[in-house]
Amino acid sequence: MSIREKILDLLMNADEPMSVDDIARELGLDPRESKEIYRHLEHVARTARGKYGMTLLMEPPVCRKCGYIFKDLRKPRKPSKCPKCGSQWIEPPRFIIRR
Ligand SMILES: [Zn+2]
Repeated sequence: MSIREKILDLLMNADEPMSVDDIARELGLDPRESKEIYRHLEHVARTARGKYGMTLLMEPPVCRKCGYIFKDLRKPRKPSKCPKCGSQWIEPPRFIIRR
């Protein structure tokens, strides 16, 4: 299986939404590759929809300091800082694939 297929399979069978760090740990990837994993997730979302009619759901990132929710993200990623309070203490987005 390619890495994208592994991510797809993992998120289709996950019980709870997973962060990129969770995905890296589960698949034995280097957490420093998180940027790559976010990129893979864009493709995984397309495959999930096109091939399985399923949707990649994203729990948006949240600022841990002020509670700001990043609702308007178009792409899966972890923002570097909060636009409201400037904090870099951001809870990363979590992903799961569902029908
Ligand atoms: Zn904030």
